[in-house]
Amino acid sequence: MAELLDGKALSKSIRAEVKKEVASLVEKTNKPPHLVVVLVGEDPASQSYVRAKNRACERAGIKSTIINKDESTPEAELIDLIRTLNADHDVHGILVQLPLPKHMDANKVIDTIEQNKDVDGFHPLNIAALQIGTPGVLPATPKGIMTMLESTGQSLEGKKAIVVGRSNIVGKPVLQLLLRKNATVTIAHSRTQNLADEVKAADIVVAAVGRAHMIKGDMIKPGAIVIDVGVNRVDDKLVGDVDFEAAKANASYITPVPGGVGPMTIASLLQNTVECYKILET
Ligand code: NDP
Repeated sequence: MAELLDGKALSKSIRAEVKKEVASLVEKTNKPPHLVVVLVGEDPASQSYVRAKNRACERAGIKSTIINKDESTPEAELIDLIRTLNADHDVHGILVQLPLPKHMDANKVIDTIEQNKDVDGFHPLNIAALQIGTPGVLPATPKGIMTMLESTGQSLEGKKAIVVGRSNIVGKPVLQLLLRKNATVTIAHSRTQNLADEVKAADIVVAAVGRAHMIKGDMIKPGAIVIDVGVNRVDDKLVGDVDFEAAKANASYITPVPGGVGPMTIASLLQNTVECYKILET
């Protein structure tokens, strides 16, 4: 029976560490780290993510400002706002909540964020740093996933890992980070053939698709570590991409949904904000 990788508990201890570090930094600089979150439109899910980020910042002693812009805001106005935030010495992190309205080019908007204030790690220079292995801000969800894997104490070296999903925000960065740990990584996507066989061969499974319970219990190799990134609403309940109840019989470690990767994403965002602050202020 698998051990539960409790993202809530791990995130709580990381947030406590961040809080301590912030307090000692502020003692020296007299200036709190400041994250600005820009939310365009009124998507309820985005609003709730932004509120959660705001709350977590405040609890950790990080100043947090939410800027709400109307759904119809022209792209040029948003870009101007980001340039102003880039130039503001009291702002250390800028996060533009995605998705943006259809009339905006998200890549262009993200490209405008100053690299050292890009707490989401989505700027092309941070993505390049991830690829090359040079210092840069890591995207929050993949960073949280790696922290969870590390918390197991298991070496990833030489292990077979599969990442199901190849998005720029989860799948591809996780692939890079697993490679850094010397895992042998397969990345699967919607055109992958015989997904079940690919998953069955893996010692580490990271599922980031967005399809409820698509990874079945019998696909999990005995002893595998299973990280479920997926968040799917089924009958008003949140479930992951992995059939948790069936998979936990085979896995050695498994993340629940909710309470797994989600809280780790927020903890990583706080760590990134402090990292950016240190680059800019110390
Ligand atoms: P995307 O929709 O951007 O990517 C989904 C990926 O899954 C694509 O690469 C797609 O392949 C692949 N895919 C689709 N169908 C299949 C299939 N049948 N077999 C194998 N692969 C398939 O999603 P995201 O990466 O943004 O998010 C994935 C999930 O993670 C979502 O549920 C999202 O809500 C959740 N999430 C959770 C976070 C958290 O903090 N907990 C943070 C971010 C995301 P292809 O490229 O071929 O289309």
